[in-house]
Amino acid sequence: MLKTISVSTRSRNEMIDITDPVREVVRSSGIKDGIVTVFCPHTTGAITINENADPDVIHDMLLTLDALIPHHRQGYRHSEGNSDAHVKSSLVGTSETVILQGGSLLLGSWQGIYLCEFDGPRSRKVHILVS
Ligand code: ZN
Repeated sequence: MLKTISVSTRSRNEMIDITDPVREVVRSSGIKDGIVTVFCPHTTGAITINENADPDVIHDMLLTLDALIPHHRQGYRHSEGNSDAHVKSSLVGTSETVILQGGSLLLGSWQGIYLCEFDGPRSRKVHILVS
């Protein structure tokens, strides 16, 4: 079952925990065992899984990505001015797959699923396939 959700982002760089909406799609699918694929159909966004207990982890991840991939850099050619966001999108990746067992996502205790925004604020779509 495929469902698409919309997420409004608020900052240029941001990571939004979408674990609960993904769980809701899984619940409504009625599928108990299988896999869930979470896909971001945007060239300046991404999906990742990381800690959702200490928000400082997300802060530090965004800080590190910004240090490695600056917004403005001599040599960028892309006229839209968001080359950093395109690079971050490809490095982080546009999808994650999670195992579904007995109706539950097999995430670790401290793991959450994040939509990564690298050129916000925007309205983003996330495709969630339960199979
Ligand atoms: Zn662009």
